[in-house]
Parts: sequence; structure tokens; C-alpha cells
Amino acid sequence: MTTLLIATRNTHKVEEIRAILSDRFHYLTLKDFPAAPAVKEDADTFAGNATLKAVQLAEWLAKYQKPTLDTHNNAFFVLADDSGLEVDALNGAPGVYSARFAALDAKSEGNAADTDNNAKLLRLLKDVPLEKRTARFRCVLALTPVVKSSPENASSVCYANEFELQTELFDGACEGQIDFAPSGQGGFGYDPLFIPQGHQKSFAELGEATKNALSHRAKALAKLRERLDAIARS
Ligand code: IMP
Repeated sequence: MTTLLIATRNTHKVEEIRAILSDRFHYLTLKDFPAAPAVKEDADTFAGNATLKAVQLAEWLAKYQKPTLDTHNNAFFVLADDSGLEVDALNGAPGVYSARFAALDAKSEGNAADTDNNAKLLRLLKDVPLEKRTARFRCVLALTPVVKSSPENASSVCYANEFELQTELFDGACEGQIDFAPSGQGGFGYDPLFIPQGHQKSFAELGEATKNALSHRAKALAKLRERLDAIARS
């Protein structure tokens, strides 16, 4: 069975990815590799940051975790998700800074609490009327092979450049609007403020099944699944 190591410490992302891709893969997360290095996400695009996360983790695994990988003797990929919210009235902000939006004001390095990010967004949009509150979530997934799929020559990809060359990207977007106040208990991040196009309720109110049918992550994962099926057939 193909193993996907989901390169995130965000449990909500892991749950969404697993729910959407289902149990056709064997999943690991960073919780299974507590010594994995933290990746500095300093690219200025989602694609750049997703690639940084997938490639740096693949390099580390090949270097320090080879015995673990070899016991699987099956295809082994790192899967990284970089995602965020683009608000048109803010010229695309918070974008790649979505996780640390409120922390930027304090010039702090780490991520901010979701409630603080949402409060900042509402503050910046307080005079913006409904029709101008258009926004979208974007997701870019980076898939990097660490062990190739053919069992007879299951070997780690060896050279740093090769990890980058073999990385494939899959993207998805979900259009919507930013509400005037948060609502709902589900999801994470900006979900309580984001009303997807064609709906009257926020992602946090609509619930997991609806979000996972139409989200930016679901669209990117549908492309990824097609590619993994093609790899398995080849
Ligand atoms: P990342 O972990 O660096 O990709 O940061 C992603 C940030 O974008 C999260 O912390 C959230 O603030 C936001 N975000 C990404 N995807 C979603 C989503 O599905 N719902 C709500 N917020 C999201």
C-alpha cells in the first residue's frame, strides 16, 4: 500500500486530507516523526512553501530515517499542504501570511491564534460592504517521492536536487465571501468567517462533509488522487 506522510502539525488539515482521500493509503503524520525539523516557510507563494515543506522533509527522511522507510517496501511519498485565504479588498492578503496574520503586527515569528487572525480580518474589513467582501481559499499540495514504487528496486531518492525535480504540485481554489461576524463551531482557521459561493452559511456552520465536498483542499486532493492512481497503474 502506498504510504503518505502528511507534512503538517495541523490536525484539522490531517483530518480533512484523510477524510477526502479515504483509506486507500497508509497515512503517517509528523507526530510519527517527532524529531523532524521545523521548516521555515519563507517563500512568497503557496507553491513555494508547499515545495519547501515536502522537499526538506523528504531529504531528512532519506538521510536519517532510511531503515523506517525500507520496512514499508512500498511507494512512500511526503505530502505537504500550503494554503490560505486571499481577500480581494485587501489586495490578496493575508495570502501566504494567513497563519500568522495577526502576529505580523507584533513582528512576532510564530503563528497567531485563529481568533486573533479572524478579529484582525474583521477589523480591516469593517467598512467594506457585502458585495466587495469577495475572497477565496487556495491550497497547493506538493507530493515528493522518497521511495519509488517498484518493490524490486525500492530505493530512496538520493540527491537533494532530485527531490525537488520529482516534486509535483496540485492546486485548488474555493470562491466565497467574508461574513461580518464569525459563526459556527466546525473547521479551523478562517472557516467561521468564510461563506462559500452558493451557500448562506460559513464553512464552520456547514460542517465537515459539505466543506470536504467543495473546499480548496478537496479540489487539490482530487487532482492528487488522479495522479496517484495513474502512478499505481504505471
Ligand atoms: P499553513 O499551515 O502555513 O498552510 O497555513 C494555513 C493557514 O491558512 C491556516 O492557519 C488558516 O489560517 C488558513 N487556512 C488554510 N486552509 C484553511 C481552511 O480550510 N479553513 C480555514 N482556514 C484555512
